[in-house]
Amino acid sequence: MADTAPNSWESRADTYSLYGFTDLPSVHARGAVVVTHGKGPYIYDTHGREYLDANSGLWNMVAGFDHPGLTETAKAQYDRLPGYHAFFGRMSDQTVMLSEKLVEVSPFEKGRVFYTNSGSEANDTMVKILWFLHAAEGKPQRRKILTRWNGYHGVTAVSASMTGKPYNSVFGLPLPGFIHLGCPHYWRFGQPGETEAQFTARLAAELEATIIKEGPDTIAGFFAEPVMGAGGVIPPSSGYFHAVVPILRKYGIPIISDEVICGFGRTGNTWGCETYDFVPDAIISSKNLTAGYFPMGAVILGDELARRVQAAAEAIEEFPHGFTASGHPVGCAIALKAIDVVMNEGLAQNVRELTPHFEAGLARLAEHPNIGEWRGKGFMGALEAVRDKATRTPFDGSLSVSERIANACTDTGLICRPLGQSIVLCPPFIITREQMDEMFEKLETALKRVF
Ligand code: PLP
Repeated sequence: MADTAPNSWESRADTYSLYGFTDLPSVHARGAVVVTHGKGPYIYDTHGREYLDANSGLWNMVAGFDHPGLTETAKAQYDRLPGYHAFFGRMSDQTVMLSEKLVEVSPFEKGRVFYTNSGSEANDTMVKILWFLHAAEGKPQRRKILTRWNGYHGVTAVSASMTGKPYNSVFGLPLPGFIHLGCPHYWRFGQPGETEAQFTARLAAELEATIIKEGPDTIAGFFAEPVMGAGGVIPPSSGYFHAVVPILRKYGIPIISDEVICGFGRTGNTWGCETYDFVPDAIISSKNLTAGYFPMGAVILGDELARRVQAAAEAIEEFPHGFTASGHPVGCAIALKAIDVVMNEGLAQNVRELTPHFEAGLARLAEHPNIGEWRGKGFMGALEAVRDKATRTPFDGSLSVSERIANACTDTGLICRPLGQSIVLCPPFIITREQMDEMFEKLETALKRVF
């Protein structure tokens, strides 16, 4: 528990930091876990306590916290060229190589890459690219953005407007023109007597009705996470992408796959769109892109969009957009190494091999009378807490039950994430079978303490 002495790390954290995305009553009562170092999938706090991080940092530390290849790559690149931009006709050699690599590992034959510092900025950039493109092609009215309720796309004013979470109303968001479609979570939103196929068809019909109502010529693009992550790990209802993609194609609406979480192996394939068998027009990447060792995001434009956007830029002799650290050479060097580590050091394979074990552990814990559903894909999993299993009635109360479970997990030495009424597990790709067993044992202990 928290050390409340005025000069403790916990008190200092609480005095000088404005916590984001943190349950403040919990952190005031318990103190922050002030982390000093990490090893493999474990982190250690200022008291020397060890925690198995089943949250992979924030979905991103897939290679663990002390991968020597990644830290050595970073050190070597800091010695060669510690920073640079990608503008004014200059660009680091690492940036050139990473763009080639990203197009090579993408589902696209050809393409172009634009770099940002985060996933939010990558989504924001993609929206600007679409607005730029449509205006250049004589359709400046094509500005509306379609996303889904419960989808998460970031925190900048634009990406937060894309995010379908009620908390954004405290900022007066979403901005006008950001339209949220239904969340494809059959267990929660399926109507009585409705089959999963009928549910999917209903969402597809809602999409088409929305496009017609808004006017296809007013819509700039459709953004979706293959599996909703921060929405509480929601894999789409069966056949979802096969149902919505043809509708979007019919109306010529660009499809953007937000792969910030799913990308680079988390769902068992390199891309989430691969897992769900659709080819988007562009991919948004971040997090796993550098295995969390550098803050970086990327917009990967597929062949057709890349050609059209390039033509639009050529027409005015410039694409007027970018961040000081776009294409940072250290970030790019780390990303090149991270892609190699995930693909060629057995990490992606470990996800595929241990997924059945992961799913079995989730299914076993879902037998608990207060767990209504387990769901997941690859190394993304969630357990949804319910007060009444038969009626799927959620808990209420100011401190959510998932927050209480996550706090109890922290006490047992396990970091996992409360999201809505669910507990989310997204272990690093390096986790072993034994460490996965430890994760489930600790979670089971926490459940016993809460219920
Ligand atoms: N898109 C998705 C799917 C995400 O999960 C996130 C962050 O969790 C973002 C975008 C935003 O990325 P960042 O936090 O790096 O701005």
